[in-house]
Amino acid sequence: MNRKRTQKILDILQDAYPQAGTRLNFQSPFQLLVAVVLSAQSTDEQVNQVTKRLFSQYSTPQGMAYLPMEELQELIKGVGLFRNKARHIKALSEILIEKYGGEVPHTFEELIELPGVGRKSANVVMAVGFGLPGLGVDTHVHRVSNRLGLVDAKQPHQTEAGLKAQIPRQRWGQAHHLLISHGRAVCKARSPQCSFCPLESMCPKNID
Ligand code: SF4
Repeated sequence: MNRKRTQKILDILQDAYPQAGTRLNFQSPFQLLVAVVLSAQSTDEQVNQVTKRLFSQYSTPQGMAYLPMEELQELIKGVGLFRNKARHIKALSEILIEKYGGEVPHTFEELIELPGVGRKSANVVMAVGFGLPGLGVDTHVHRVSNRLGLVDAKQPHQTEAGLKAQIPRQRWGQAHHLLISHGRAVCKARSPQCSFCPLESMCPKNID
């Protein structure tokens, strides 16, 4: 593990993607939590379309907890797995009301206990919702990190641990957004554009 090389990679990506950040629209930690739950196997654009309508009518745990399941499903059916997601959103809203006074908890351990919230989602809420250290690993972060040799990991949770061990905590959230931006724009899953990549000279190109 070479922390200096990792920092250099992040600096280069920061120059390449100065606007890197979340594309999800939200106005509160709760709205972000719901948007992140909705985003599994769906695009940010699909999620934003759904949440625009959903949040204009219901934007609090109280609103979602008491919403009839059928109505919630109807409101979010523009995203995949909407029946499961509706169940999760209602259940986590009830927990927020009963256990946290209607607020979203601030710790990773509490977040990951909520229905429909995995490690990636908990990390994103920490970093984007609260400005706390969090490094969510999605398919882009996992793929790009392995290709660059930042980690040699089979599973996303291993990539998360490897990245967290070599990146200062204050850069975790930024690293998440930069690696996603690079994965979407250049280091694509099927056809990485290595000849256009600002990291080419320092990349071992660990491509399967
Ligand atoms: S050189 Fe190729 S494999 Fe390496 S980060 Fe750039 S696009 Fe990805």
